[in-house]
Amino acid sequence: MSPANEDLGLYIHVPFCRRRCHFCAFYLEIAQPDPMTLFHSALVQEISLYQRKAALDDRALQSIYFGGGTPTSLPAAQLAALLTLIRATWPIEPTVEVTVEAHPSSVTARDLTVLADAGFNRISFGAESMVDKDFASIGRFGRVRDTASAVQAARLAGFRNINLDLMYGLPGQSLRDWLHTLESILMLTPSHISCYALTIEEGTRLAQDIARNLILPPGDMLQLDMESAAERFLGEAGFSRYEISNYAEPGYVCRHNLLYWTGGEYLGLGPSAQSYLDGTRFGNVADLTTYAAEILNESHLPIRDQVTLSTSERQRDALVFGLRLLRGVPRKTIAAAERDHQIDGLVAKGLLDADHDLVRLTSLGRRYADTVAEQLF
Ligand code: SF4
Repeated sequence: MSPANEDLGLYIHVPFCRRRCHFCAFYLEIAQPDPMTLFHSALVQEISLYQRKAALDDRALQSIYFGGGTPTSLPAAQLAALLTLIRATWPIEPTVEVTVEAHPSSVTARDLTVLADAGFNRISFGAESMVDKDFASIGRFGRVRDTASAVQAARLAGFRNINLDLMYGLPGQSLRDWLHTLESILMLTPSHISCYALTIEEGTRLAQDIARNLILPPGDMLQLDMESAAERFLGEAGFSRYEISNYAEPGYVCRHNLLYWTGGEYLGLGPSAQSYLDGTRFGNVADLTTYAAEILNESHLPIRDQVTLSTSERQRDALVFGLRLLRGVPRKTIAAAERDHQIDGLVAKGLLDADHDLVRLTSLGRRYADTVAEQLF
């Protein structure tokens, strides 16, 4: 089966952070020299195993994304060397987008120069908020002024494409705090902004604190007001909302993330990294010790949960992910049986806009995106 989108990306999961934020449910390890050395050795070998399998069929990579965790937990020179190895292993499109995620409070100006010189051309800082008290409420280290310094240093290092991740609906965060964050972020003139609503994930410190009535969960209405404020504010500043959580200046849509929403293929490396190749989804084991042992001692890929999608599952994914894009999905993505009837019903409820070719969520529909997608499938 050929993919809906011919583009191909590479994702590297670097599972290290200095400490865990209270809301974070990602697989990660606390950054320490020995596990990081082990990770690096295993990752280099994992690249070599995939090269021997010729798993990417010599197709050129259009995006490379180092995510985490905090990729810049690794020394910048090591990240640069990994990128050089990737370039020597697979063909790369001349216009490749190469992203690295970074924590504004731990990356240095020198690191940023090394990364830019190595060929990273997009940087994504986890800013989260521009109000210091919000950091305390989510257990995040650093201070908001670090974000401004990091953005300035990134620009001096040569980065033109700078993303800032923000979160809203944080414990104790008011609409006024959120507006202050948006205003402060715009003054830093990033090219891309991601705004994520806080969600309470099971097993996190935040979920425990809420269960013990130590803090209140985010209010739904307040989160919706914050979402509307972001759309208005960022729209007025020239950003276009192209996906439920993502805003970009013209020409700065994230190519790598677009792969996920358009049925493109990607290979994920590192513990817990997910892949989608040849119609099959698979993921690496979410444990550094097992990941490294299987690669280094047994020379085999630490893959778990391999599922080949049926045509119907692929259509479902195309709808669920595609509807996240503000441009919508082609009408033909929706199975023919009762297509018009279903679409008309959701249009009448104010959840969808539809024309002859495209179907897209309304702002009301975006609040219920998954439910709408299920009804169309
Ligand atoms: S920095 Fe990101 S990955 Fe690390 S603990 Fe915080 S939210 Fe999780």
